Amino acid sequence: MKFTRLRVTGFKSFVDPAELRIDAGLTGVIGPNGCGKSNVLEALRWVMGATSAKSLRGGGMEDVIFSGTATRPARDRAEAILTIDNSDRRAPARFNDADILEVTRRITRGKGSDYKINGEEVRAKDVQLLFADAGTGANSPALVRQGQISELINAKPENRRRVLEEAAGVAGLRARRHEAQLRLNAAEANLDRLQDVVDTLQ
Ligand code: ATP
Repeated sequence: MKFTRLRVTGFKSFVDPAELRIDAGLTGVIGPNGCGKSNVLEALRWVMGATSAKSLRGGGMEDVIFSGTATRPARDRAEAILTIDNSDRRAPARFNDADILEVTRRITRGKGSDYKINGEEVRAKDVQLLFADAGTGANSPALVRQGQISELINAKPENRRRVLEEAAGVAGLRARRHEAQLRLNAAEANLDRLQDVVDTLQ
């Protein structure tokens, strides 16, 4: 799975539609201080399902929406679309027929985020698992935020273990185990209820 293009509109400083082509090999983002280089990485992390506003240098999720300047009014919506080359067929079965995947995340003021994969509405979890299975994601150790190294040094052992799990590509399995455990708990609760009904009928 290769990322080939990132398009953003209304995201942080990118009020107008902007496009970043990601070719094979190394892609560099260069520019003067404050021009939006970190915002590009944040858009990438955001479209992969980032849930922590703090990791996107904001107080709340809506802080990613263009907040206006002296000459341009604020926007009500931010959008990022990541295009992925899936010719190696590493996507989950549900999306794996397509050569190209387009993952879209949009946030509207007061309404929260919605996600799409190739135009089909999906849950945040589906997007997060898609990337986790490919050994990447919003928390991938390959995306290093400013200040992240000192955070890592001071992190609790459990949080540091999460970073290692992401790097080892087992984060998706951990998320699936958690989902399976929740389903198991619900099934056990249903069985208990059923037993109660059986007991009252006997
Ligand atoms: P440096 O090289 O100093 O690290 P940078 O090129 O990485 O800078 P960013 O930190 O990505 O720059 O971008 C900062 C700019 O983004 C600032 O001008 C800030 O005002 C703008 N910005 C951040 N959030 C928003 C927002 N929600 N709406 C409008 N502009 C925003």
